[in-house]
Amino acid sequence: MTASVLVLNAGSSSLKWDLFAAPAFSSLRSGMIERIGEKGGALDHAAALAAVLDELGEARPAVVGHRIVHGGRTFTGPALLDEAAIAEVERLVPLAPLHNPPALAGIRAVAERLPNVPQVGVFDTAFHQTMPEAAARYALPAWCEREHGVRRYGFHGTSHQYVSRVAGDYLQRTDGRDPVELNLVTLHLGNGCSAAAVAGGVCVDTSMGLTPLEGLVMGTRCGDLDPAAVTYLQRAAGLSAEEVDRLLNRESGLKGLCGENDVRRVLQRAAAGDADAELALDIYCRRIRKYVGAYAAVLGRLDGLVFTAGVGENAAEIRRRVCEPLAGFGVTLDAAANAARSGEVRRIDAGGPVAVLIVPTDEETEIARQAWSVAGGDLAAADA
Ligand code: AMP
Repeated sequence: MTASVLVLNAGSSSLKWDLFAAPAFSSLRSGMIERIGEKGGALDHAAALAAVLDELGEARPAVVGHRIVHGGRTFTGPALLDEAAIAEVERLVPLAPLHNPPALAGIRAVAERLPNVPQVGVFDTAFHQTMPEAAARYALPAWCEREHGVRRYGFHGTSHQYVSRVAGDYLQRTDGRDPVELNLVTLHLGNGCSAAAVAGGVCVDTSMGLTPLEGLVMGTRCGDLDPAAVTYLQRAAGLSAEEVDRLLNRESGLKGLCGENDVRRVLQRAAAGDADAELALDIYCRRIRKYVGAYAAVLGRLDGLVFTAGVGENAAEIRRRVCEPLAGFGVTLDAAANAARSGEVRRIDAGGPVAVLIVPTDEETEIARQAWSVAGGDLAAADA
């Protein structure tokens, strides 16, 4: 029987799973259990995992890889989830109160059902832990960081890491570029959105911070905001801390601006002349351009711009609105290449100094790869 890696992505009421053959990392089977803890759904994550194992039948994974949102400063890469590591994920719960607990529930359920199978945590924050202090620290008194961990951690790290590696490999193959010399800006534009500045495969800055709220405009999150707006709204509108949290995370972004968080619908409405949708797109794309410009300055030179995730991979009109005004920075766009639909890695610039690439992200495969390598698997065999 071939070895396999089970990748688990546990949300508060869902468990996404993917079984990969190793070391080829082709997906064998996948599924999603929803409504955990809700009426008519699985009782808890342990029951959900039992259902996944039932579905796998005789197949037992050699390794289980967990997507974990917050690894704090501790986890700078994937980690074997021994007792000390699990305790550390637990200690980090206050930084990700909605996200780390379901991951922990998944880890405990696996430990119970598959006690001899090694478990590996792959953290959304890990790739960004190479950021210099100048990028990671806020201009706050030191105690905020020392006593409360208030600093910039970044998220979507597995995606930024994967697409920057794939983009580097692609440009090496097609242009003979040395990936170590490449300065890239990666744009993960999905329902959540973030940008990263990546120098030679190493993250030097990213747009999400203490939480995923900072940075770009997203489906329902506002991104950058004058922090005084928070206290002002609490006083002026009488909102509680929880209500402001909800407002900024769930009712803002594209949804707040035009009532719609799905970019497809926003684009349709803008094309039909809807002024709110048009303004929402303007704000969304302008913010992305501001980050590209800022990161070009951080990197000192821009060699490539990489679009990924639901919007980045599929929305030609968003890519056009981001790239065309950046001509002065060496960003060009081939209209036909931009409009073509494909699930492949592809280059869509018109031959300018900045390579513009679309790289479909694949966080599950990346988690499987990383989990396999931490558990002692040979990646060279996989890449051969
Ligand atoms: P993700 O979080 O990566 O799954 O991205 C989800 C988002 O991608 C959705 O909310 C849509 O706004 C967006 N999306 C998916 N397909 C398209 C498309 N063809 N055109 C524009 N946006 C898309």
